[in-house]
Amino acid sequence: MSKKIIEESKKYLMNTYDRAHIVLRKGRGMKVWGPDGKEYLDFVGGIAVNCLGHCYPKVVIALQKQAQRLLHVSNLYHIEPQIKLAKLLVTNSFADKVFLCNSGTEAVEAAIKLARKYAKDHTVPDRFEIITAEGSFHGRTLASLSATGQDKLKQGFEPHMPGFKHVPFNNIAALKNAVTRNTCAVMLEPIQGEGGVIIPDKDYLKHVREVCDDHGLLLIFDEVQTGIGRTGKFFAYEKFSVEPDIICLAKGLGGGVAIGAILAKESIAASFSHGTHGSTFGGNPLACTAASATIEALLEDGFLLDNCTRMGEYFIKRLEELKKEFPSTILDVRGMGLLIGMELTRSGSEIVKACADRGMLINCVKGNVLRFAPPLIVVEKEIDQLVDVLAEIIESI
Ligand SMILES: *Cc1c(COP(=O)(O)O)cnc(C)c1O
Repeated sequence: MSKKIIEESKKYLMNTYDRAHIVLRKGRGMKVWGPDGKEYLDFVGGIAVNCLGHCYPKVVIALQKQAQRLLHVSNLYHIEPQIKLAKLLVTNSFADKVFLCNSGTEAVEAAIKLARKYAKDHTVPDRFEIITAEGSFHGRTLASLSATGQDKLKQGFEPHMPGFKHVPFNNIAALKNAVTRNTCAVMLEPIQGEGGVIIPDKDYLKHVREVCDDHGLLLIFDEVQTGIGRTGKFFAYEKFSVEPDIICLAKGLGGGVAIGAILAKESIAASFSHGTHGSTFGGNPLACTAASATIEALLEDGFLLDNCTRMGEYFIKRLEELKKEFPSTILDVRGMGLLIGMELTRSGSEIVKACADRGMLINCVKGNVLRFAPPLIVVEKEIDQLVDVLAEIIESI
């Protein structure tokens, strides 16, 4: 059955993804199933999207109720699900104000626009440059792609948008050197996700904050991947004890429904005055309802954040054991909470495929870093199952 579906997928969809030969039709918790009933444990989690697992009942029920009430009205009007979500985000963050959009790249675009506008409103007119990191990933639309620090993704789309400068990640001297009188902001992922799960030194982000304060620059954290509980705190900036001025969210925010957001303090948010930015679907009632239900479930009793921390530690411990067993294949194990990378001395694609054949979904970034971003509900037994499969596969290659 899957074969025909895959043929049609290739026939009718543009070929932008190198998809596995797997069709997925149904999910519950940590599990997903294909049309033929094949079962998988999902350690990809929609790439850090399905933070509560698949079809979390409270999210599904909230969506059903909202779907019967109202699907969409324009942002020309006040919409209660938006207000509820914004209140939840503000109450649980450094920020005062929220702008709602539909994806990670849109959140990054909004952050770039807000930083430029704030600079225009408050400093000399030619401050527009944003410093970002080499190896970073900020999205696929033209400004966020220009901000991204990976040439491979940018090739063929020149000319890139001016106003971005890239510096090595985790190198405070390089950042200091890159600041000019044109700089208005620094934008970083607290942990580089697509870049290979790169965790900066303990004090790097604190020093970045100091550089920003010294030069009057805004600090933007792209927490599209690290936010919404992924690192064991609601936001990764809490783990590093560094407050940004603007934060970008998406991926886990809707618990599986498309939504993005930026958060900022009042004084900065004020630069987004009437008519400066907007989105037809941004803050759509269904998306906001899903996001509120997700956040409520995540923060309800702290259980899921604790589970994320405990399972993250357990997962890393098990992978470290694997590394000891296979030192010639495994170079490094690193992670925070349930965003975990295992760097290999070889390409990871064969292992990803062999895992899928054995009912385990994982993915690979940068060609040789296996990335694990399972739902925050994952339990030890499931981690053991994956590690056993990984051991078998690595043993056999
Ligand atoms: C995934 C990701 C994005 C882009 O999000 P989309 O929803 O795919 O546009 C931006 N920044 C980071 C850090 C991401 O991980």
